[in-house]
Amino acid sequence: MDRRTFSKMALGGGLLGLFLGAGKSGGAGKDFIRPPGAEPEEIFLATCARCGKCAEICPLGCIKIAHGEQGLAIGTPYIVPLEGYCDLCMKCVEVCTAGALKPVPKEKVRMGLAEIDKDICLARKGEDCRVCHAACPFYDKAIKLENYKYPTVDPDYCTGCGRCENVCIASPQKAATVKPRND
Ligand code: SF4
Ligand code: SF4
Ligand code: SF4
Repeated sequence: MDRRTFSKMALGGGLLGLFLGAGKSGGAGKDFIRPPGAEPEEIFLATCARCGKCAEICPLGCIKIAHGEQGLAIGTPYIVPLEGYCDLCMKCVEVCTAGALKPVPKEKVRMGLAEIDKDICLARKGEDCRVCHAACPFYDKAIKLENYKYPTVDPDYCTGCGRCENVCIASPQKAATVKPRND
């Protein structure tokens, strides 16, 4: 199968996702954290050429490609912050000739939204932990310290880059986790 044929099939799959409400494909961004600048999920599925160029260029290797068990999203890029965060270098956007990833200022990226589980956060348990606060690229904006102690996410600044989840030292479960945004 040549690339044009594959792209057409992929586009067809994306459009089918529109009609099916995207189903198992993770419609409306419910299941996947996409690379920076991704169009809203339905448009992304219909636009992404499944070329893999974003994954190839990513210097951190944090972009994964969805496989068959992920339904109509097969071939599309996504990020699992636990395994690799995004440092917002925006190289993936530069190589996306299909327009599925659109240029956006770093501070306006909204790949996902971090949450901090108060029951797990070590700072809430009395430990002097500020690892996520220190690591966040939007220092003291996306994660602020409530009462100078407790890390708290500000959704107006969080890009969803995943660094806080990646570095969180709470174990075995991370206190900081990033979920796809649904807005
Ligand atoms: S570079 Fe763009 S079109 Fe290609 S797989 Fe990545 S998001 Fe899809
Ligand atoms: S912005 Fe850079 S680090 Fe983030 S996913 Fe794209 S290429 Fe990878
Ligand atoms: S709070 Fe976490 S996901 Fe949000 S910008 Fe900071 S490090 Fe990234």
